[in-house]
Amino acid sequence: MTAELAIYPGSFDPPTLGHLDLIERGSRIFPRLLVAVLRNTEKQALFTVAERVEMLREATTHLAGVEVCEFEGLLVDFAQSRGARALLRGIRAISDYEYEFQMAWMNRRMAPDLETVFMMPGEAYAYLSSRLVKEVAAGGRPVTGMVSPAVERRLRQKLS
Ligand code: ADP
Repeated sequence: MTAELAIYPGSFDPPTLGHLDLIERGSRIFPRLLVAVLRNTEKQALFTVAERVEMLREATTHLAGVEVCEFEGLLVDFAQSRGARALLRGIRAISDYEYEFQMAWMNRRMAPDLETVFMMPGEAYAYLSSRLVKEVAAGGRPVTGMVSPAVERRLRQKLS
């Protein structure tokens, strides 16, 4: 197992500045951070997995230890196949706790050696979610300061 590798999994549909804040914080602690986009057939997505991977790669070129990939199936199996020792997840409001804890406990049950690490974003991003960003953009309002300029451009193209 590679002790220093952590995986940051998620939908990232699209990546927000909250996600990027977490990636930057995570990359200061873990020498190698793999951002893994879940290929989820149940969730209706706005962006394809390939587009989300591309947006994340564009946004993280300045971070040496960060890589981006996609995965499907159980996260614990993916993490074990990569030799990761930790999962990184973000916690915003209290409302995140229940879902995140359920998942963390279930993952620990399946993979006791895999540690889930929770981090808080900077205050400015504490209320940001991909879902809300999509709603605001779909309503024709700017999402400047919530996503990168490149992601904002893509949102406008998608929704026009
Ligand atoms: P998922 O469908 O797995 O929840 P998301 O892309 O919505 O995928 O979120 C991935 C991870 O990033 C989750 O742990 C979520 O709590 C965290 N996250 C999402 N938005 C933010 C934010 N603004 N600040 C910090 N963490 C966030």
